[in-house]
Amino acid sequence: MPGFELIDNKEKKAVSDIFSEGGILFAHGWDNIRKKYHVRDFEKNLGKYFGNKYTQVVSSGTAALKISLKALGVKQGDEVITQAFNFIATIEAILDVGAKPILVNVDKNLHMDFQEVKKKISKKTKAIIPVHMLGQPCDMKKLKKIIENKKIKILEDNCEAIGSKIFNKDAGTIGDIGVFSFDFGKIITTGEGGAILTNNFSYFRYCREYHDHGHENNIKFPRGRDTKSIPGFNYRLTELQAAIGNVQLNKLNIILRNNKKKYQILESKIKKKYTIRQCSKKNLQIYDTFIFFEKNSKSRNKILSILKKNKVGTKVLPDAMEWHCGYFWKHALNKKNILNSKKTFDYLKEAIAIPINFKTPTTVYKKIAKSICEI
Ligand SMILES: *Cc1c(COP(=O)(O)O)cnc(C)c1O
Repeated sequence: MPGFELIDNKEKKAVSDIFSEGGILFAHGWDNIRKKYHVRDFEKNLGKYFGNKYTQVVSSGTAALKISLKALGVKQGDEVITQAFNFIATIEAILDVGAKPILVNVDKNLHMDFQEVKKKISKKTKAIIPVHMLGQPCDMKKLKKIIENKKIKILEDNCEAIGSKIFNKDAGTIGDIGVFSFDFGKIITTGEGGAILTNNFSYFRYCREYHDHGHENNIKFPRGRDTKSIPGFNYRLTELQAAIGNVQLNKLNIILRNNKKKYQILESKIKKKYTIRQCSKKNLQIYDTFIFFEKNSKSRNKILSILKKNKVGTKVLPDAMEWHCGYFWKHALNKKNILNSKKTFDYLKEAIAIPINFKTPTTVYKKIAKSICEI
């Protein structure tokens, strides 16, 4: 699971090096004092790793969602379809640009239900946000097929599945825009932070300007005389965060390898007795969360106590369900969306999500799998 478990002297050195490189903590300007540009390097490295053309890093995944919706032209009165198994950030971003969230349920494997998407598309639908929840990507090919010949844009929320693949392409690079989060619980972290990935230059240009008060970074002028054409906001990432991000990105492959090994230990045993969450065979998940289903509440409680006793606990399901299920968001959604999310709640309430940690030894996962199967 999370990159924070691997923070060591490498991150520490990257941060302290900034102070011998001129001490510039800001991404722009001070060109004659500084030796490096960590934010720009982080963007280059992300692009190289994930194979997209343009990358804009920002202050959070939530900011990345909002800025992307604006770049896609989503405005007041537009509808944006997203899913009921989600994180509240997606809804907040939609509301923040004045649009209307329309929720669809997930299927029994907790992926966006595309049949329901088809039914919810209206003349007002401007964008769809599929969310690759807890390490597993959804089938973007099918979604693309549904909106073929329509003017609807896809914004991929890949905050929770960084490193997963869909037909051999990285999740987050398949929609019109994809977003990542590097908050402290994510697979790689900068403390807080996010990224916007796209292959479309005009979306990228909008994001770069909007997140930085409208600065066009016109190379003909110094920053103080920079040109501008849209008002923006401040959603910038700092050099300190980007320096950490560069180190964390180098650790992503190690994290993914470790995840898979431990996930497969759980899978090989638990699948004999329980239904486990499936990812399409054409896709590659990041194995950072092992999810299976148990209806019986007595057995569920036994499983949860095994996880607690072994100091692993659960990830989101069930312990943070209320922040990840539309059924609980009366403060943000209309009644229709709430009622429609009941089906998702019914699936989620039977799900148990075991986090795959880096520091939890393999032996603990073996023990957990054995105890769960002995119930
Ligand atoms: C974490 C997360 C976000 C928001 O990211 P922050 O960086 O915490 O703002 C958005 N969507 C999903 C699915 C997430 O898990």
